[in-house]
Amino acid sequence: MRGKRPTRRRVLQNIFGMGLFSWLIARIKQLFGLQGDSGRKSPKEATNESKPPHADQEQVEEPEEQEEDPEPTEPENGAIVFVYDDGAMEDYTQALPAHKAFDAPATTGIVSNWIGTSGYMDTEELDELVDAGWEIASHTKKHRPIGSFPLTEDTNHSDIIVSAEGYRHGHHEGETVEISNGETKVLREVAGLAGEPGERRVKLTEPVDEHFHAGETEIRYPADVMHEAVDDSKKALEEMGYDVSTILAPYDAYSGYSNLFVKEQYDGVANANHGSRINYPDEYDPYETQRDYFIEFTNKKSVKHDLDKIADDALLGVVGAHSFKEEVNEESIREMLSWVEDRDIETMTLREAIETYN
Ligand SMILES: [Zn+2]
Repeated sequence: MRGKRPTRRRVLQNIFGMGLFSWLIARIKQLFGLQGDSGRKSPKEATNESKPPHADQEQVEEPEEQEEDPEPTEPENGAIVFVYDDGAMEDYTQALPAHKAFDAPATTGIVSNWIGTSGYMDTEELDELVDAGWEIASHTKKHRPIGSFPLTEDTNHSDIIVSAEGYRHGHHEGETVEISNGETKVLREVAGLAGEPGERRVKLTEPVDEHFHAGETEIRYPADVMHEAVDDSKKALEEMGYDVSTILAPYDAYSGYSNLFVKEQYDGVANANHGSRINYPDEYDPYETQRDYFIEFTNKKSVKHDLDKIADDALLGVVGAHSFKEEVNEESIREMLSWVEDRDIETMTLREAIETYN
């Protein structure tokens, strides 16, 4: 009769207790490569995983060597990451067919509140992108700037207009901003944008009522708004079934302040620095990623020059585009991908690039 005689396993279970026994089996399997582990773990998770449940009481000796997934190797001719902004339907109708033709994945930055709204992809399209190897990145919950901007002019008590290096908070009327020099902090509601294009400023509903010095003061969102932008978008996307580990900062606005919130939730940011497409593997920090555009705001000569450099020196390129723009279409994306193919540069998602270069 089966099941009556105590098996070795059950005897051991009785000796060690269920938790420890399962752990030992798991460790042995892991050591002999019997357990496939395709998903890479963060160091924190890995540590928790290899800790026996009753380590303190049982004094189990840890095996000294652990087998880990081999590090992905850096491609000989460099790599390139394409990051599309905003989750426009054209990512699906224009960018996806081009990328499929070259068997090249990409990363798309999704504003979680915009999914399925007019002009934006729904989960049906996002699923197809994922099936084609694309990465879903967060682009915040409501497309809010997550960077902070240093003031460029001192404030007087009666001022309701703030001059700073960036004005993007002015786009979001009714949202609360924080003006802070580290010691004194005021919270004010945004009334909108002030000033002409080229000299845009943020207008508040009430006077600043404080004398702040430019250079030592920043305008930014307070912690609760930052958490909503950074954490809630990731949560929403994950609830839809997507694996989210990177973020794309709206308006290319990113700063040290952003890191306080982003580092808790993400492995990297696609556009911490704007103005260059080139990242150097030896010093690559995923929270300092440099990204620049490859169709709009540039020219073919500049793009080809960077691709040559990426291929010659085995560098990491990160490029972006808004697929809803007229000049960004299947044809212009295909042209770029053909230049990438000509140079034998490997296309990868941002997540893969972080695994490869960090
Ligand atoms: Zn955007």
